[in-house]
Amino acid sequence: MTCELISVGTELLLGNILNTNAQYISQKLADLGVNCYLQTTVGDNPDRLEEAVRRALARADVVILTGGLGPTCDDLTKETVSAALGKKLVLDEDSLAHIRRRFAKMGREMTPNNVKQAEFPEGCAILPNPHGTAPGCIIEHDGKAAILLPGPPNEMEPMFDASVMPYLEKRSGTKLYSRMVRIFGKGESSVEYELRDLMDGTNPTVAPYALLGEVKLRVTARCRSEREGEKLVAPVIAEIRRRLGAVVYSDEGRELHEVCAELLLGHKKTLAVAESCTGGMLASRLVSVPGSSRWFLEGCVTYANDAKARRLGVSTDTLASCGAVSGQTALEMARGIRRTSGADVGLAITGIAGPDGGTPEKPVGLVYIALASGEVEQVTELRFTGGRERIRNSACLNALDMLRRSF
Ligand code: ATP
Repeated sequence: MTCELISVGTELLLGNILNTNAQYISQKLADLGVNCYLQTTVGDNPDRLEEAVRRALARADVVILTGGLGPTCDDLTKETVSAALGKKLVLDEDSLAHIRRRFAKMGREMTPNNVKQAEFPEGCAILPNPHGTAPGCIIEHDGKAAILLPGPPNEMEPMFDASVMPYLEKRSGTKLYSRMVRIFGKGESSVEYELRDLMDGTNPTVAPYALLGEVKLRVTARCRSEREGEKLVAPVIAEIRRRLGAVVYSDEGRELHEVCAELLLGHKKTLAVAESCTGGMLASRLVSVPGSSRWFLEGCVTYANDAKARRLGVSTDTLASCGAVSGQTALEMARGIRRTSGADVGLAITGIAGPDGGTPEKPVGLVYIALASGEVEQVTELRFTGGRERIRNSACLNALDMLRRSF
C-alpha cells in the first residue's frame, strides 16, 4: 500500500509555521510499514490544490490531507477534493449538532459560515473531532481513499490515532503494537550508545524520545494481532531492562509519580512531603494520581527558615550552621514531616531555584533531597542547570526517583 501526504496552508509555504503534521503522520506510516514516497505542500488555492489531489490520487492508494477544513473562505479542502472526485457536498445533521453544542458550551455565537464544517462529500465516513469543531472524513473512490484531517495538531493527532490508524491498519492488513519504556537517571546519548544495535532493528523498532530530564523508548512491532506483537516486543524490552538495569522505571508507559503510587499502595505505606523550592509541585504531582488519598497524608510548603523550624522541627542550630539549603536541613525536614504527619515515609526537598539567591559555595541549581522511613534515611546533593522551572521540575523527578528506589 502506498500513501501520499498533502499539507494545505499558505502559512506553511511562507514558513510561518513548521509542518509538524507531516512529521507526525510520516512517523506513523513508517511504523506501519506503509510507503510514503511523496509529500506535497500547497497553499490555500483551489486550482493548485485540485491539481495536487488529482496527481496524488493517480499515484498512491491513499492520500492524506491536513488543513483547510475550517469555516473560513480560504478553507477549501473538502470542496476541492469533492470536485476532484466528482462528489457532491451534503449536510451531516449529527456533525452540525456537535458543532452547535461546542459553540454553546464555549458560550460563543455560531456564525452561519460554521455550517460549512458539517458538509461532507457524499458517501464518506465522518471522523469525529472531540477537540475542535471541524470533523475529518475518509472518502473512498475507485479503490483509492482520500483522508481529510484538520490542520491544528491538537485536533489532527488524536483524530489520526483514533480513526485513521485503525483504518490504515485494516486496509494494509498490518497492526501496530507498542509499549513505552521509561528511563530516569541516564541521558539520551548514553541510552542510545548502550542500545545502538536494538535501535537498528526493524521489527520491532526502538525509538527514543528525550523529555525534560527523562528518556522514553517506544518499542513498536508490526504484527497481525496483539498477541503476536507482544511476542515480538517482550524479548526486546527484557534486553533493554537487562542492559540498563534500575534506571528503567516502567515498561508500560507509566509516569514516575504513578510508579511511586503503585509502590506505596502495594507496600501499604503512607507518604508525606515537605517542600521548599518546589513549592508544592511534588505534592501536586503525587495527588494527580487518582486514589492518592489511600497513601498520601499531607504536603507542607516550608519556604521560610522559621516555617522549617516551627512546622517541621528543623533545629535552629542546623539552619544557622548549615543553612536552609543543606543536606542536614533536608534530612531534618524529611524526619519532621514524617513525625508530625504520622506517615511511614517522609520526603523533603530544599534548594536554590534561582535566578537569584546563589553564592559561589551554594550556586543556583543546588538541591538537596532527603527521605526518612522507619528503615532508611538518605540524603542526596544534586546540581542542576537551566532556569527556575527546569530546576524545580528536576528536583521533583529526583525526589520521586529516590522514593521509587527506596522500595
Ligand atoms: P481551523 O478550523 O482552525 O481553520 P483547519 O483544518 O482549517 O482548522 P488550517 O486553517 O489549515 O486548518 O490551519 C489551522 C492552524 O493549524 C494553522 O494556523 C496552524 O497553526 C496549524 N496547522 C495547520 N497545518 C499544519 C501543519 N501541517 N503542521 C503544523 N501545524 C499546522
